[in-house]
Amino acid sequence: VSRTPLADRSPEELRAFLDEQRAAYATLTERGLRLDLTRGKPSAEQLDLSERLLSLPEGHRDRAGTDVRNYGGLEGLPELREMFAELLGVDTDQIVAGGNASLSMMHEVLVFHLLHGGVDSPRPWKDEEKVTFVCPVPGYDRHYTMLESYGIEMVTVPMLADGPDVDAVEALVRDDPSVKGMWIVPTYANPAGSVVTQEVAARLAAMPAAAPDFRLFWDNAYALHHLTEDEAKSADILSLASAAGHPHRPVVFASTSKVTFAGAGVAFLAGSRETVGWYLGHLKFASIGPDKVNHLRHVQFFGSPDGVRSHMGRHREILAPKFAAVDAALSAGLDGLGIAEWTRPRGGYFVSLDVPDGCASRVVALAKEAGIALTPAGASFPYGKDPRDRNIRLAPSFPVLEEVETAMAGVATCVALAAAEQLVGDVG
Ligand code: PMP
Repeated sequence: VSRTPLADRSPEELRAFLDEQRAAYATLTERGLRLDLTRGKPSAEQLDLSERLLSLPEGHRDRAGTDVRNYGGLEGLPELREMFAELLGVDTDQIVAGGNASLSMMHEVLVFHLLHGGVDSPRPWKDEEKVTFVCPVPGYDRHYTMLESYGIEMVTVPMLADGPDVDAVEALVRDDPSVKGMWIVPTYANPAGSVVTQEVAARLAAMPAAAPDFRLFWDNAYALHHLTEDEAKSADILSLASAAGHPHRPVVFASTSKVTFAGAGVAFLAGSRETVGWYLGHLKFASIGPDKVNHLRHVQFFGSPDGVRSHMGRHREILAPKFAAVDAALSAGLDGLGIAEWTRPRGGYFVSLDVPDGCASRVVALAKEAGIALTPAGASFPYGKDPRDRNIRLAPSFPVLEEVETAMAGVATCVALAAAEQLVGDVG
């Protein structure tokens, strides 16, 4: 479609465009849609791929003959740790298999630092005057709300195509000893889709930090979640940090929430051997052991790391068309207007849509009115506040393909309408 950018149109042309968008929006609301694109949940079709898990495990003994139904084995089933150690590129003795939520493991690691300090902390973080985290934005809302719940300050840095703006990160971390940590989703980030390059990872691993116990919360939630054959390889942050003399800096998290069942998968934590010992040393007061029945069931279901990879290929077959539909609908509605940019991620669960400054909340409100639930504007920023009110996270995984197409065409209409309203200066 060849279109004149809205910025280059005359006032009369803009008025006419606004009228067209109002008419399109009226038609949209009349359809009485009820679509939900708020969260990155796997669809029922994806969950069905793992249905066989529900009839496993066969038997109840692990490789060593341990009865998995009983207590024990806090670090998780050895064969499952081995399988995911290979997939995540770490050594088996550096990984723990836990419960169903990596978010809980992140929370435990944060709280253990607050209450006890980490392996190399001069004191517990609660005894520091102030604790600050670096937060690349846009990012994952639950990372921010977790910090907020403990009164931890957040400073933002832009998330770029190759990872966080590492110049900005280095400057913050080098001079301020209150900066104790940083969130980073290194592969197919939520929501920007960025992949941290080897070079950026090496700088994050090696940069001087004023805090001796600075931590990278390396949340590799989408490590295996490719949408194309051009599969991103996650940087080996543990080796990089170790080689740079900061072996305890990264703590790696991952899970099978978007591999098997979002509510009943297995979560993993990896770090230096000391970090793993430290983590288990605190965890042992809270647990006698994880759900090893679920661990064994996952081992039998996958069989091998290749079994996991081919299973992810089946997810891709379901997800890739939905992401293509998002791009197609946004392109059809918005290309050439000069009012929106969006990501075309090669993996992960999200598309990040930028609209004109000051328009994101209006777009989300318009969509809601039309029966299309989007993630609240600002959700990808600390305190839910996007200073430019321009970013919208789109989550196309859950609805069926046809609903994604309908919803995204509707979103394009809402974006065009909001931008036209702003340009005409008439929000009536
Ligand atoms: N990290 C990121 C970046 C996520 O997007 C999500 C899920 N939306 C999680 C963690 C949650 O992981 P889990 O289910 O393992 O708690």
